[in-house]
Amino acid sequence: MKTCYGFWDGEPFDLRNASLEELPATLNIEELEFFDGSNPVDAFVSHRGFIIFNPEVSLIKVLRDYWEKASENSCGKCTPCRNGTALVYDLLKKASGDKHSLSEKDWKLIEEVCTLMVESSFCGVGQTVPVSLIGALKFFPEDLKKNVAYTSADQYSVVTAPCIEACPAKVNIPRYIDYIKESRSDLATGVLLRNYPLVGSCGRVCVHFCESACRRRKLEGPVDIKNLKRYAADSLGESVDHLFKPRRSPQNKPKVAVIGAGGAGITCAYHLLLAGYPVDIIESKDRAGGMALTGIPQYRLPKDLLSSETSKVIENLGGRVLFEREFGKDFSIDDLFSDGYKAIFLGVGCAKGTKLGFPEDEGKIVGYTDGIDFLRQVEKSVSKERPLHYEGDTVIVGCGNVAMDCCRTAVRISSGKVSVVYRRTEQLSPADPVELHEAHQEGVSFHWLTAQKQLVIENGKVTGLLCCKLKVEGDPNSRKSKLTEIEGSEFVIPCSRVIAAIGQKLEKELFVGADKLELGKRDSIIAVNENLETSRKGVFAGGDCAVGPRSLIEAMAQGEKAAQRIQEYLEGEKFSFDKRQRVSDMIKSAGLFDDAAECKPVISTSRTVIPELEPLNRTDNFEEVELGLTDDQAKEEAERCMRCYRVLLVETANPIGKTAK
Ligand code: SF4
Ligand code: SF4
Repeated sequence: MKTCYGFWDGEPFDLRNASLEELPATLNIEELEFFDGSNPVDAFVSHRGFIIFNPEVSLIKVLRDYWEKASENSCGKCTPCRNGTALVYDLLKKASGDKHSLSEKDWKLIEEVCTLMVESSFCGVGQTVPVSLIGALKFFPEDLKKNVAYTSADQYSVVTAPCIEACPAKVNIPRYIDYIKESRSDLATGVLLRNYPLVGSCGRVCVHFCESACRRRKLEGPVDIKNLKRYAADSLGESVDHLFKPRRSPQNKPKVAVIGAGGAGITCAYHLLLAGYPVDIIESKDRAGGMALTGIPQYRLPKDLLSSETSKVIENLGGRVLFEREFGKDFSIDDLFSDGYKAIFLGVGCAKGTKLGFPEDEGKIVGYTDGIDFLRQVEKSVSKERPLHYEGDTVIVGCGNVAMDCCRTAVRISSGKVSVVYRRTEQLSPADPVELHEAHQEGVSFHWLTAQKQLVIENGKVTGLLCCKLKVEGDPNSRKSKLTEIEGSEFVIPCSRVIAAIGQKLEKELFVGADKLELGKRDSIIAVNENLETSRKGVFAGGDCAVGPRSLIEAMAQGEKAAQRIQEYLEGEKFSFDKRQRVSDMIKSAGLFDDAAECKPVISTSRTVIPELEPLNRTDNFEEVELGLTDDQAKEEAERCMRCYRVLLVETANPIGKTAK
């Protein structure tokens, strides 16, 4: 670390001064020292303070750059921030100019405006931007007023929020919530369409990482970000595909093939089409959606909506979706290159369910299946309006989100009891708590701390599942605690169906002959580098098939990234340095959003309860259970968002993205 000084969480530090050498305990300075490879950071400014790593740097110029970004991002709703950011930026510009200096009166005015902004601004921009300048004025007035010639070679700034950082696609959540407050659902949807076309679908099934990071969680509960997204899309009246006027396929650029019409493939194709590349998606099923089509039941995601936000959008943008063509059977990667495609994106998912490791796994036992296969069969029957009907009881093994989809689906198609067997406690279940709650409501019973031991089979048919009870050695709320079988606890759950919902994997049988790509992680995924390139030139992969089974939003984020990398590849450019991702990495590793800053709610209200079908009215059909927010509820929920925007600035000694890693 160079000789540095700064101000962090209210405390000054100065390695040039023996009495201030101690760094604040909450500052993870090593995580902020380098931005891109060995390119040193000259200065870093955030909502918690500033660090000047290079003492040659002009403190006033760094803060001027920071306030410039702040003034560009003040939304203007409240006077202290609207006028304050503009006024302070102008004064800092004047103070950092060649011949100008400020009078004591001007400095006093800056101080007063900063204090006023912190105390009375409506949101995170006005409340936190002045923090660093206040610290500099109080503890480093001489450095602030010193005239220094050195200027950093480059800088990068970001306006973000805890919810944005938690979202894999980095959706500007407070921005779309703002538009809902203003009854502008069209603009709210526009914010979301910058990232992906599946707005209404994601608004229904997203695993909402953002809500776990929402600062309102510290008060009465997180903002219902997911359902506000759904509201934005639903209140347009028509699906988002109508927003894209049909256009002809772009002609002038190299064409790209996307294999798989799931979340990753659709999003990759969407961004490439918007950038003017001709794209064909090749899909093995008769409809688009991937795991969202076959793995998520209709009562959570209506499939007409999914089609309108996937294949219809792609076709309106001039792309083609070629259905019922199976990769590895009907065509190969070589065929696609021979057909003139210049780049290929693989978004084939992890579409193969995992069984329980029983001797019967490979055989044909009636009533024994994996969760993916079960959901696929039911979806097919429901979409043909002839839902399957099963007699007898069903046992689901596993307790993740696929297990919840399986048990809630089984309730709807069978006359018997449905139960779930899970090795750990309910608290450690990986399923979304909302899904668990709904499953309880729909009558599913749960066997916690229970393990499956053996199928009970008669005449080639399942008649039960032999299980045993487990005891936890150590902390029952830790996944690391050892589980041991309780002697003599064996029991049989009589049933006619056992569904294994314990995982999914890549269908690696698809990759045969010359299409053999390097695989990773015990051969369960396609190996890709940080640019999503596979071992074969011009072939990229993303989503579940490259990272393992994850959520729709993670797949879409990978699709967007792949589109960027494919464009760079086709243009013959070097892959660009991902500055935005690097800032996210720094936020995470330095714990920049782990501060205990007080939440200042605009209003104090609890989270809106989403209306839904009564349990009695939903267990014999596939009608959508959650009914969505009404206009009034959506506005009320949107008002709960505190706009926790934070401005971050990095200034570096060398141009960003040019330093050898
Ligand atoms: S609402 Fe926030 S961004 Fe808008 S002017 Fe006020 S403090 Fe600034
Ligand atoms: S209150 Fe709003 S801006 Fe703050 S974290 Fe939650 S959703 Fe994001």
